[in-house]
Amino acid sequence: MATFSVRFLGCKVSHADAHAVRERLLRDGHLERDGHADVAVVNTCCVTNEALAKSRKEAARAARTHRRVYVTGCGANLGGDAFAGLPDNVHVVVRRSEETPEAVAGDVGAIGCVQSDARLDRVRAFVKVQDGCSFSCSFCVIPLVRGPSRSRPAEAVLAEVRRRVAQGHREVVLTGINLGCYRDRGAGFDLARLVREAGSVPGLARLRLSSIEINHVNDALVAALRETPTVSRHLHVPLQSGDDRVLREMGRRYASATYLRRLEPLREEVNLTSDVIVGFPTEDERAFEQTLRVAERAGLTKVHVFPYSPRPGTRTADLDAVRPEVKKERSARLRAASHAAELSRWRSKVGADDVVLVDRSGRGYGDDYSPWLVPADTPVGELVRVRGAGVTEEGILAA
Ligand code: SF4
Repeated sequence: MATFSVRFLGCKVSHADAHAVRERLLRDGHLERDGHADVAVVNTCCVTNEALAKSRKEAARAARTHRRVYVTGCGANLGGDAFAGLPDNVHVVVRRSEETPEAVAGDVGAIGCVQSDARLDRVRAFVKVQDGCSFSCSFCVIPLVRGPSRSRPAEAVLAEVRRRVAQGHREVVLTGINLGCYRDRGAGFDLARLVREAGSVPGLARLRLSSIEINHVNDALVAALRETPTVSRHLHVPLQSGDDRVLREMGRRYASATYLRRLEPLREEVNLTSDVIVGFPTEDERAFEQTLRVAERAGLTKVHVFPYSPRPGTRTADLDAVRPEVKKERSARLRAASHAAELSRWRSKVGADDVVLVDRSGRGYGDDYSPWLVPADTPVGELVRVRGAGVTEEGILAA
């Protein structure tokens, strides 16, 4: 038997992939432990240079406290020399996500005793339904490191949702790189049907989507989200830029007007959050200001800002025209606007009721994924009825 720890960097798909390796090692009879252990698995991210540098740092740190370190995930699959020069106990696993648990477990070796409770998070489970992307946005390295879009059979997804609920998870997040591409043609499922059926699993309190491209926010999906009582009132819809020229050059396949038009009917009932890339090579001040305007008009309450960095193998790999200080300044402006929008949404909840899912001591999320601060003795995993009493920098204070 080996002792092991698993950590991940990056998005919810990386979280789900890390969980799959963890579950596999537990199934093989290995023992999970925080900190010092025989084996560390570091599931990495390469979405920006910064993410890759952090992944390397994490692998180097793990190499000091573990006998063997497996570097997996997007960063490992990117190739290049990101993990070169690390100690000899660091092994880079270049495999598709579906093959990674098997590759790591095969190397660690099994002892055959079965441990069944494999929870990475006690309250919220990320259930991967789709991986890869068949589009080719000019800046994006994901199709290269994760391959084309493919979907898990609906039956397997629904079985996993049922299993997570039986393990005690209250919330399930359907997760994918490009969720709207979800299809199980044989069983007649698209994402809308999957939402309806996953959301009806008995015992599930909340269902969310990790993120959805605007082109996939169609009538069928919106109806499924509205008509499934467990679906939370939150959607994360990447914008990337609000300027049509930049969007075209990014290869994003929609215009800002489409983004605004499709979200317009949802903005009153749903908390809308997004991703934006700042400092794309052809983004000038006017284009950036257009992004600020579109984010405001769409009613986005939280924007995850990614300062552009060229990724190897992409169409913009050799382009990085916007100076670092300009990227920094624009990022700060967009983050400030995002924080102001977020505070204003939180303030609108003062005096109003909500139901909070407590996911750690003293904290949780409302139905629309707004953060709440609840009394520290509220049991983790509980759904509690609250009333907004005030707002802090970290969330809404529950009365
Ligand atoms: S940014 Fe574009 S290419 Fe990258 S994962 Fe999203 S849709 Fe696919």
